[in-house]
Amino acid sequence: MFAVKTVVLPGPDDLNEDKIDPMIDLSVEIDLLRRKRNAMILAHYYQSEEIQDLADFVGDSFDLSRRAMVADAEVIVFCGVRFMGEVAKIVNPSKTVLIPDADASCSLEESCRPEAFRLFRKKHPDHFAVTYINCSAEVKSISDVIVTSSNAEMILKQLPMNRPILFAPDRHLGNYLIKKSGRDITLWPGSCIVHEQFSERELVKLRIRHERALIVAHPECSEGILKYADHIGSTKSILDYVLASKAHEFIIATEPHIIHQMRKMAPNKVFIIALGMNGSCDCAKCPFMEKNTLSKIYLCLLNNAPRIELSEDLLQDALKPLQCMFDMSVNTNVSSNKS
Ligand code: SF4
Repeated sequence: MFAVKTVVLPGPDDLNEDKIDPMIDLSVEIDLLRRKRNAMILAHYYQSEEIQDLADFVGDSFDLSRRAMVADAEVIVFCGVRFMGEVAKIVNPSKTVLIPDADASCSLEESCRPEAFRLFRKKHPDHFAVTYINCSAEVKSISDVIVTSSNAEMILKQLPMNRPILFAPDRHLGNYLIKKSGRDITLWPGSCIVHEQFSERELVKLRIRHERALIVAHPECSEGILKYADHIGSTKSILDYVLASKAHEFIIATEPHIIHQMRKMAPNKVFIIALGMNGSCDCAKCPFMEKNTLSKIYLCLLNNAPRIELSEDLLQDALKPLQCMFDMSVNTNVSSNKS
């Protein structure tokens, strides 16, 4: 049995989207509520442009988790997906953690149910469980160490060479880590529905059309995409790479909302979105991240819900592998883009 996890939903008397006054300026109202409630808004790079622009801090999962850990605001509004809100609560449990939409899940989290993961561990009792942060609090609580795409390689290097490893839930990132580390790693068969959509055929066509463009890709992409990449890394590392590069044009094989930050920081460079199987870039947008909207941010601050609540046991058990990640990532600097 797992300890209790809840997302407290708005009550029947709370305001809902249909009842929001259409005349109000949501950005202004959110700002007023943010001050009134002493709230900090954290947003992932995969959020819409308008959400990124009103956030106090925009980052990838690792930077956002460290921001949440040191947040001194009373309320954290986490604009990302649900597991990210859970991480904020685990690393800073005295804060109220709100998420705009309780249904903002993740295909990786959904592919790895806690009971099935427990069986996976039982089948491999000698293995060390290295788990990608894209999983539920329950799965974290039965893992040995959590990693993100920005620190996975560094953490693997610190694990004893004679110990076999289980890696869940993303098989593409896992395969990439096997190649980079040469380690004995047994993979969970999960994948990201967004990064798996990119088409090798369309990528080759784009490269022919834009022969000077460099290709940058997230390691959640399949090998068919990664083999063409000039740079592979976390969302933050991709952003840093295109900003530092002398090249002018880039083909971006990750969720396209990151391009908003690229255009803001390097307005003279050209960013081309990698295409999906149907020759369109729409399938590269994360449907879970897109559930969050300005009206839902306004409502969660007003209603104090959806709100993440985790039992004491779950908070403690899930913190251990996260703390292990922070301890093993001491050389990774926290980035800052806005505060
Ligand atoms: S982009 Fe993929 S991994 Fe990230 S939240 Fe969406 S489904 Fe999950």
